[in-house]
Amino acid sequence: MRVLLADLASTRGFVSKDTVVGGYGSRLDPFSRVTTVMAYLKKKFHDVPSVHLAYTAAILARGGHEVRFTRGAEADADVALVLTSLVDHKNETAWADRMRARGVKVGFIGITASKMPELFADHCDFMFEGEPEAAVIRLAHHSAPSGRVISEQINDLDSLPFPRWDLVREDSSRKPGKKWFTRPVGGGFPLLASRGCPEFCTYCPHRILAGYRARSIANIADELERLCDRHPRPYVIFRDPLFSEQRDRCLELCDEIRARGLTLTFEAETRLDRLDVQLLDRLYDAGFRAMSFGVESLDPATLKKSGRRPIPHAHQREIIQHCRNKGIVTAAFYVLGFLQDDWNSIAATIDYATDLGSTFAQFKILTPYPGTPMFKQLEPLLTETDWERFDGYTPTFRHPNLTDRELRFLLGAAYTRFYMRPSYLANFLKIQNTVVREWVSRMDRRVNERHAREEIADFSRPVAC
Ligand code: SF4
Repeated sequence: MRVLLADLASTRGFVSKDTVVGGYGSRLDPFSRVTTVMAYLKKKFHDVPSVHLAYTAAILARGGHEVRFTRGAEADADVALVLTSLVDHKNETAWADRMRARGVKVGFIGITASKMPELFADHCDFMFEGEPEAAVIRLAHHSAPSGRVISEQINDLDSLPFPRWDLVREDSSRKPGKKWFTRPVGGGFPLLASRGCPEFCTYCPHRILAGYRARSIANIADELERLCDRHPRPYVIFRDPLFSEQRDRCLELCDEIRARGLTLTFEAETRLDRLDVQLLDRLYDAGFRAMSFGVESLDPATLKKSGRRPIPHAHQREIIQHCRNKGIVTAAFYVLGFLQDDWNSIAATIDYATDLGSTFAQFKILTPYPGTPMFKQLEPLLTETDWERFDGYTPTFRHPNLTDRELRFLLGAAYTRFYMRPSYLANFLKIQNTVVREWVSRMDRRVNERHAREEIADFSRPVAC
């Protein structure tokens, strides 16, 4: 069977899919000078290939099938499997229609097809509900199915073949290239050491497709070793939603990387309460150079209302400071517009973000994603009917305390205040000198006063109707 795997490139803004927002994806359509630069840099460093398609390619190739990959070019095949997203689903269904017109059977995979099949049902021959691998294993042994097919979660993740990156990298922009900062151009190699998340944040899509499972350390190290054999000094992006959930496993993995003499660098996403300075030191010695984590809101009560366990601010500061000392890049995520938020609480969260001083910060507007408990809660308040605008940067429901304009304004202000300040540059350049840092703090205060004046002027400007 000739199978075409499609991870379609979008034509608008910067779109990331696969493991981003649990697979619903995100689209950054620049709305300010800062976000224009960010979209450009994300395109260069964050446009990584799909790990789920790399697994799919490995399973089908192992079954003796001819596997090809596309980011949009149409080609003859017996079956095309399309990775779905919420933010770009119209592009995906239009492409599927064209392929079916050529006589190719089309199937959809991913969380969006699983949770919102009505968006895809008229554009395909079949779709998989759940993590795709179990259904792909069946596809490798039988002809293409029809209709909606349940794909059960695979509990023994060690039983899966390793992802075939050679089969899912089509264009040169996605080949890992020059290392300019921490991530190389083209991203690196995503790796799933575990799947799902055992936490209960009600807004999070990472925990709604399948349960939490982890691979054995030996199996993860085997995959790392294979990457090292094929690509000198690879940069590995652990895409587990909660990488350091089990401290002992992390330590074991560090030992295994060192025992095997693997030369690699890696990054991961985690919670700060799942880290301590001793663990960070061991991770660093194994090649850990960057991490992302959710802070979400300054207010513990707001977090608790959304099922998220708050992390003491003192612990957050200790971990970030230790990372700064070691030269580990930190990226903090913030969510603006929780139901309890108002102008003042969001302003306080933005101030906290700049004060915490992670290397990078990502601010998004609270978005109720289908299938999450938060979606059920906010469904009566939804105002947005275009699912592609559930992109993380667009207000989608009637907020009790803030208008859409206010939310968008605060989002823009968050990016400007975080990135347009001297201490951001100092953190980025890893400047530690005390005298310089004190001078930078004084400059920060002056720049903040200027931002405040500009924000007042901006927000007072009449809005065109
Ligand atoms: S900790 Fe919360 S936000 Fe992070 S992946 Fe788990 S459920 Fe999602």
